[in-house]
Amino acid sequence: MSSDNNWKKLGKYYAFFLFFSLPYQIIIYIAGMSNTVGIREAILRSSLWLIPILLLPKYTKKTAGFIALILWAASIVSWSYFYVFGQDFSQSVLFIIFESNPTESREFIESYISIGLITLLLAYTLLSFILWQKLETVTLPLAQKSVTLGLICLLTAWPFMKPLLIQGASWEYSLKKLEERLEPATPWNIAVGYIKYKRVLHNMQKLLAENSNTPPLKDLKNKKYNDKSTMVLIIGESTNSSRMSLYGYPRKTTPLLDEMRDELLTFNNVISPRPYTIEALEQILSFGDQQNPNEYLTHPTLMNMMKQAGYKSYWITNQQTQTKRNTMLLTFSQQTDHQVYLNNNRVQNAQQLDGSVLKPFEKALNDPAKRKFIVVHLLGTHRAYHYRYPQSYNHFKTRDNVPEWVNNDELEEYNSYDNAILYNDYVVSGLIKRLKKESKNSALVYFSDHGEEVYDTKDLRFTGRNEGKPTPAMYTVPFITWLSPSWSKNMNLEQVNTFTNRVYSNSDFIHSWADLAGIEFKTDDVSRSIYNTAFVRRPRFIGNPNNPKSLMNYDELFPSKQYLASKQQEALTWQDKI
Ligand SMILES: [Zn+2]
Repeated sequence: MSSDNNWKKLGKYYAFFLFFSLPYQIIIYIAGMSNTVGIREAILRSSLWLIPILLLPKYTKKTAGFIALILWAASIVSWSYFYVFGQDFSQSVLFIIFESNPTESREFIESYISIGLITLLLAYTLLSFILWQKLETVTLPLAQKSVTLGLICLLTAWPFMKPLLIQGASWEYSLKKLEERLEPATPWNIAVGYIKYKRVLHNMQKLLAENSNTPPLKDLKNKKYNDKSTMVLIIGESTNSSRMSLYGYPRKTTPLLDEMRDELLTFNNVISPRPYTIEALEQILSFGDQQNPNEYLTHPTLMNMMKQAGYKSYWITNQQTQTKRNTMLLTFSQQTDHQVYLNNNRVQNAQQLDGSVLKPFEKALNDPAKRKFIVVHLLGTHRAYHYRYPQSYNHFKTRDNVPEWVNNDELEEYNSYDNAILYNDYVVSGLIKRLKKESKNSALVYFSDHGEEVYDTKDLRFTGRNEGKPTPAMYTVPFITWLSPSWSKNMNLEQVNTFTNRVYSNSDFIHSWADLAGIEFKTDDVSRSIYNTAFVRRPRFIGNPNNPKSLMNYDELFPSKQYLASKQQEALTWQDKI
């Protein structure tokens, strides 16, 4: 056998491994989502897989098949994500996935699976198999083999060795450099992403310990300190207010809240700063906002504040938080006195209905503590929507009041989202009714962590959320307040009633909550409270604050009639001045 021929065969192995990284990198480069680094690293890092091929000459084809299985599995994740979202599968995406539980991830996959995606994956798999079949056993002469192995090892280790040996950098820094270089290439995107995630998680656990040492809010006064009081915060999930009849949607999706309309303060222009649960709540439940996204790490959170104000606190959640992979939600829940985790055994049961929060909620209401603060975290209308309601709530089945752009293939999902909202109406109104019955002096706020696009935007043909391609449906959230008569007396309710049109980003929520609770402290800012006469309207930013360039003014991006009118007014006033 000529050595030339062997080089050619080895070249085929290299091309085979390259197949799992390079085409993807080229596509995302063409789509403008990556620079050429991804392509370069795919070309360089794919050579690594030739090492076992050269070391095991007897089993070259089998070895290649085994490696290919790993590369194939990792790369179809990236391809699928790109197919569905039109975005690169980056580490931050991994973070979001690891923060969800396995059942949720399965539902997520189920809801995005389509004929197009399956066809693409089958074609990709078939092509991988054909390429593998074409491989032949390869044996290089010892000298050539040794030199090749040496070169590949050097090439692979170079990103690590260069800073360590030549630049005299630390071991840690050098490892980070290696990570950076490996990350674009399959399967390192997932492996490195996971390592980074674990690192963050470790910090989170440390953080919880540190949170207990966070200096308390200075000069905190609870004006209601001597009153017996119950405050309830209901955090919803993926509910877009424009799909609720309470907010004018033509389908009667919230009949029970509609019935209570006169007793509710229904704020109609509130958005979430981010379209993802964790990222949104990091701001909503802390002093963080789009300009200072990390305040939740360094300052007291809403849970800390309530404790400091003398409240006994509860966290009742139907979201899975108590997994081995601890989560940010777990950290927040652990900042309260008592936790009820309802979503533990979901392995056999995909349907985990929010109605399960009602019993533990009643129990918490019956706690004789003088001041109680109860957080209820719902699964709400999270996809896959048909899992979010019992069969008896399968009410919307036809095309009635469905926009004409929703086609027949999309109708079922469109309807199941409305059915999920109908069931959410039962849960939220049920919580309000129970509070009303039990408590004499109480306040309740319900909002959704973020919205959800379910064919709300004409011709977008998309359901879900995508920060890279925002639509109003992903951000507009219900925000309602219920107050007992004694509570509303203190609030000057008639005046607050005129505030419901206020343009508000929920990133400032902690200020509204403190104001509602009658909690004052040195650094509080009532101009950020939606309930306060001193309220000042501020620009509402959306986008990823870790990439400040991506921040956009929501009202400029999606100008409402109200916004345009106010701009016009500003221009007129300005003209008056000259
Ligand atoms: Zn969410």
